[in-house]
Amino acid sequence: MIDDSFRKLIEDSSNIVVFTGAGISTESGIPDFRSPTGIWKKYQPIEFNDFLSSEDVRAEAWRRKFEIDKNISMAEPNIGHLAIAKLVNDGKVKKIITQNIDNLHQESGVPNDLVIELHGNTTYAKCLDCGKRYDLAVIMKNFEKTNKPPYCDMCSGIVKAATISFGQAMPEKEMILSQESSLSCDLFIAIGSSLQVYPAAGFPILAKKNGAKLIILNREKTGLDGYADLIINEEIGGFLSENINFIN
Ligand code: NAD
Ligand code: ZN
Repeated sequence: MIDDSFRKLIEDSSNIVVFTGAGISTESGIPDFRSPTGIWKKYQPIEFNDFLSSEDVRAEAWRRKFEIDKNISMAEPNIGHLAIAKLVNDGKVKKIITQNIDNLHQESGVPNDLVIELHGNTTYAKCLDCGKRYDLAVIMKNFEKTNKPPYCDMCSGIVKAATISFGQAMPEKEMILSQESSLSCDLFIAIGSSLQVYPAAGFPILAKKNGAKLIILNREKTGLDGYADLIINEEIGGFLSENINFIN
């Protein structure tokens, strides 16, 4: 029944936006934040202002990042990513808005310009003052030696991973693109997100209010279940691979 409704909604749509959260990548071995085994059972998130105001907090942020990066650098796209890539390559899905920073949509064969990364990119770092880019391998090597967080060699500014922290401004271009695609789609599919983090969680609402259908696929309840036309509480990889025929 759910399977039929899902397939029918996809069939009837020609401009789909897929919105993904950490849940799509757990089957690739990257833990999410809010599940019982998620990262936040271990760590409280670090706010941007705390990062700015304390060298100890910055050192802790880098320590965590290097720990989390071990998972991310070994991870490969799973059947959920591949099923979505199939819908992109068929021309059904026009944009992927992702909260993830792991690059797995791109690695599953989705062109770069179709992936909107709302929370940045974990594969490099940047000076917060002058914008100079830094290679993570170099930062990690120095950090392992000194246990001190990095400063910019051009302007002495604070260097931070190119991801967006709580309390940090959202990237402007990505916000505009997400807004535009949410407003123009006829079906919005939110996958593997607890839909609690704003402004990201505002996009499904925007799409729905502008007339699109909304599907939510997530193991647990989300903050936006009340808006959905179809709620699917199943495992992502299994459900998508059964319902999107991507293995030829
Ligand atoms: P979240 O942790 O708040 O929610 C993930 C949701 O996915 C949970 O509700 C969980 O029940 C569900 N889930 C996990 N595995 C699933 C599976 N196999 N099948 C079905 N459901 C599953 O994640 P979020 O909403 O993306 O917000 C957390 C923030 O953390 C995001 O802003 C993101 O930037 C960041 N983050 C990114 C990554 C990554 O890049 N892979 C990993 C962790 C966190
Ligand atoms: Zn600088």
